[in-house]
Amino acid sequence: MQKSSPTYWLLYCRPGFEQDCTQEALRQAKQRKPIIGTEQPAILADSGYVVVALNEQPLSYRELIFARQLIRLHHTIESLPERDRLTPIIDAIATLPGTFGSLWLEVPDTNDGKLLSSFTRRFQPLLETSLREQDRLQDDPRATRLHIFFPNKTSVMIGSSDPHNGAAAIMGIVRQSMPAEAPSRSTMKLAEAIEVFMDRSEQTRLLRQGMQAVDLGAAPGGWTWQLVKRGIRVTAVDNGPMKGVLANHPLVQHLKQDGFKYAPRKAVDWLVCDMVEQPSKVATLIGEWFAAGWCKHSIFNLKLPMKQRVAALDSALGGIRKRLDEEGINYRMMAKQLYHDREEVTVFLTKTKG
Ligand code: SAM
Repeated sequence: MQKSSPTYWLLYCRPGFEQDCTQEALRQAKQRKPIIGTEQPAILADSGYVVVALNEQPLSYRELIFARQLIRLHHTIESLPERDRLTPIIDAIATLPGTFGSLWLEVPDTNDGKLLSSFTRRFQPLLETSLREQDRLQDDPRATRLHIFFPNKTSVMIGSSDPHNGAAAIMGIVRQSMPAEAPSRSTMKLAEAIEVFMDRSEQTRLLRQGMQAVDLGAAPGGWTWQLVKRGIRVTAVDNGPMKGVLANHPLVQHLKQDGFKYAPRKAVDWLVCDMVEQPSKVATLIGEWFAAGWCKHSIFNLKLPMKQRVAALDSALGGIRKRLDEEGINYRMMAKQLYHDREEVTVFLTKTKG
């Protein structure tokens, strides 16, 4: 029997998390089918991307925590001629079937990558014009995207992604701007989580004026600010002080208590939690809140240990699943290392109808 050639996937991640991103992608693939006879490409530490070699296993972006984007890699050109980078790229694209709904020129999220972005800005219109002339590019955000990724100035990776199985943002980064009034930069984490985990209609439905929330580990108030901005009443639990507009806000009640001991008098809509603690301890707490019926939706942060991050996350998220399953609660849970997350990941958990 003829041996089939491997399929390669290009995944972007936060620099420093290449091992975790690879480990997670390979594990997901192996759960579908063993990976046979393919050697894995080397992992480049701090590069901000990884390549994995599979047989025909599909990968699901939603279920990957560390991957910012998921791209089927078609061509890698190692040494682009300095005088004409366009022709080899156009020739490589010519071998791919069909048309593309968008063209994204991308670089790694590293300091070296940033230096390349002025080049990609100049290069984009040249490539775009050429692809339009050949009728290879149509403006359709639902159609296959073409990714031209420059790991450095002399090489390029050409791939495609399915908008239904990837991030809807260039480089997989949903950037947020820092609101002047918010008391901490952490506010961007919750803002990004809301954008990434919920579509527009869900945001409107689940984050409504008049709702009630509890924010555990709230100080100085960046997450609370995102909630009160939407007209949600917040009980902010933290021994530390709430700052700026949140020090004395009509929608905020500040309780100087231990977030692990606090219990609401009445059930609330939302629990958000950004306490710096072991992932297993936070996960147990979240499980208890859902099991007790104290909240319907939650966004929480899990701070990662330095080693065995994938295993620590598995255990924490697995613990929540087990607890909710035992209680017969239907739910949807999604975890991502967001752009504004550092050594941590953010999780969205919501009760669903049976
Ligand atoms: N989300 C906040 C924001 O946007 O401004 C930042 C939270 S900060 C990363 C972590 C907070 O958790 C600290 O203010 C700390 O006092 C609080 N914290 C840690 N352990 C806690 C506990 N057991 N109970 C209550 N708060 C706790």
